[in-house]
Amino acid sequence: MDERTDRNRELMLDANAAAGVLFEILGVEMTASPTECAHCGSEGEVGALLAFTQGPGLVLRCPSCENIILRIVQTPEAIYLDARGAVYLRLAR
Ligand SMILES: [Zn+2]
Repeated sequence: MDERTDRNRELMLDANAAAGVLFEILGVEMTASPTECAHCGSEGEVGALLAFTQGPGLVLRCPSCENIILRIVQTPEAIYLDARGAVYLRLAR
């Protein structure tokens, strides 16, 4: 594990904590929802993604390639959701 990875792991949060933010925004429990990384094609549950809350907003990264899958920035007026790193996000009805 190199120095950069070490630092990343230190900044990392449990994605389950991030799921609380997603629930607040989407009104859907996302922890067990499947998603697919647009970069490497790895599939898994949202709760298994690497969550970072440093910098502006919340960032969820792929546990396989560390590509950004989901980015959420909240301002007083709006919520910005950037999901271009995901092939899809499944929201259960
Ligand atoms: Zn990936």
